[in-house]
Amino acid sequence: MDIRIGNGYDVHALAEGLPLWLGGVLVESPIGCIAHSDGDVAIHALCDALLGALALGDIGKHFPDTSSEFKGIDSKILLARVMELIRREGWNVVNADITIAMQRPKLAPYIVAMRECLAEVMQISVDRVSVKATTTENLGFVGRSEGCEVYAVALLGK
Ligand code: MG
Repeated sequence: MDIRIGNGYDVHALAEGLPLWLGGVLVESPIGCIAHSDGDVAIHALCDALLGALALGDIGKHFPDTSSEFKGIDSKILLARVMELIRREGWNVVNADITIAMQRPKLAPYIVAMRECLAEVMQISVDRVSVKATTTENLGFVGRSEGCEVYAVALLGK
């Protein structure tokens, strides 16, 4: 089997009173991501990992934030489109692993829902999608709740 690996990284600034979408799930939170899209920083990092595995650029290239087409867009639609690109080239996702760094709110209650949601959009089994969350022990911009940071890795096979 031919395999490819990709990694993705994204950061969004946080502000009071915005919805917090992470991994396709609406998280109850007083703060949310500032963004052109729905601000789902976890899906954005995942998309970049998937695109990176095939050297297809990044989501900024495919879905420019200067385009009104993508204003406020549900990031699950972007992920579905990235999956179409991958499958069109004959590849499938072996697994993906996502780490969300956020000081608050606590994300543990949402992890299973995120995995199930992402697996459904990607049309793969949930055991192939890992989502983890960590704080940064109050250090840095994540620790000050100024931003949410996400790392993602995806392995593709054909
Ligand atoms: Mg983003």
